[in-house]
Amino acid sequence: MPAQVSLFNTLTRRVEPLQPLAPPRVTLYTCGPTVWNFAHIGNFRTFLFEDLLRRWLDHAGYDVFHVMNLTDVDDRTIKAARQAGKRLSEHTAPFTQAFFEDRDYLRIKPAHAYPAATAYMPQMIALVSQLLARGVAYKGEDGSVYFAIAKFPTYGRLSQLDRREIKVGARVASDEYAKGDPSDFALWKKADAEDEAVGAAWDAPFGRGRPGWHLECSAMSLDEIRKTFGVETLDIHAGGIDLIFPHHENEIAQSEGATGQPFSRHWVHGEFLNVRGTKMSKRHGNFLTARDLREQGIDAAAVRLLFFQTHYRQPVDFNDEALAGAAEGVKRLGEFRERLVRESQKQVSEEPLRRIASLAESDVHAALNDDLNAPKAVATLFDFVRAANRELDQGAGGAKAALEVLDRVMDVLDVLPTGRTVDPALASWVAERIAARAQARKSKDFKAADAIRAELGARGVEIEDTPQGTKWRVV
Ligand SMILES: [Zn+2]
Repeated sequence: MPAQVSLFNTLTRRVEPLQPLAPPRVTLYTCGPTVWNFAHIGNFRTFLFEDLLRRWLDHAGYDVFHVMNLTDVDDRTIKAARQAGKRLSEHTAPFTQAFFEDRDYLRIKPAHAYPAATAYMPQMIALVSQLLARGVAYKGEDGSVYFAIAKFPTYGRLSQLDRREIKVGARVASDEYAKGDPSDFALWKKADAEDEAVGAAWDAPFGRGRPGWHLECSAMSLDEIRKTFGVETLDIHAGGIDLIFPHHENEIAQSEGATGQPFSRHWVHGEFLNVRGTKMSKRHGNFLTARDLREQGIDAAAVRLLFFQTHYRQPVDFNDEALAGAAEGVKRLGEFRERLVRESQKQVSEEPLRRIASLAESDVHAALNDDLNAPKAVATLFDFVRAANRELDQGAGGAKAALEVLDRVMDVLDVLPTGRTVDPALASWVAERIAARAQARKSKDFKAADAIRAELGARGVEIEDTPQGTKWRVV
């Protein structure tokens, strides 16, 4: 039985137990990047909170099916392609590739499917046809197809829109607009010269054109869960809070308007990211992409830890002090793990470290089960490091049990320093080589001792002789 996980549900504005349609399966759809440019770290804060959600559900015993779309056709991608003087696909392909590189740098687990909008035209056209047939969509005199929000009585529920604001017949063609202007929105936009110029136009029974951004997510998510599980209801739909209106509101309208089924049982939204106290923007000179961080040599573990120290429903500030603090935390975790690896070779009684470790693990689980309370889980982890180090200083055993717990928690948080995770096979080999070197030195065979040092160095292990014995670390 998977653990009981509770999550804040934007639909009800309450923390609710997650109740998937067919446990232990959880279908999770997260809105992916718009590949018009490099994704910025604000986007990645959302993707990292979703990574934590995904990893926690996996760890808690669920069988997660994660779908993340790639928006490779919308107002922004077309405009960017036009400005670059390229075909749409030629413009978006390198940014899609860059997104996957950034994902791997930040240690985000790959989704099970990455549907790209341009590969889903038949499904999008079918969805529009269905909405037209059901009378919730209509063709406007401008040749585009619109969703009639007045025909969908629950429109505005997710974003808590005042339905009295709805002006019947008002229309909006652009993908993004304000909550103050709820209007019939474009499902399918009649192709104009710019769309044709970049190759962003497709034939459809209701006219040549291109999909609206909102339509894409409905068509791709429904298709993925229909063909994989034969269902039309997601368990969790996640994204940044800026997507609640109009994007997710419109996804619900399109999907439920077509299927008559609830679109998603749970809606989870992550808060914004500020950089050095202000909203990130090119104008403020505080615009950062994931590759900026990578090029500055910043360890992804520090970025992850920095984000996880704040609850996903709270805004986080990204600044140099916070990042330095997180990097320090990551270093301490790395050193702690190395110490556990070394000490787990010793044959001493396992108590009381085993008890401390198992309490820490259950506290981490309780925190993450409670609306993904990562800051509490992180605080528990560092309390554990302190308490365990104190016990080890006093010669306590149990490092092996502590190491197992640490590794299980790292399976979820993944905040150990890059390249400093030491596998137990290496540790025991190092211990054996250090013993052999000590023996060689004792018998004054310094040539052999130096050869062993070189042998260790070749595998990235640096040693240091101290009054307490030979210490080692992976560099
Ligand atoms: Zn979406």
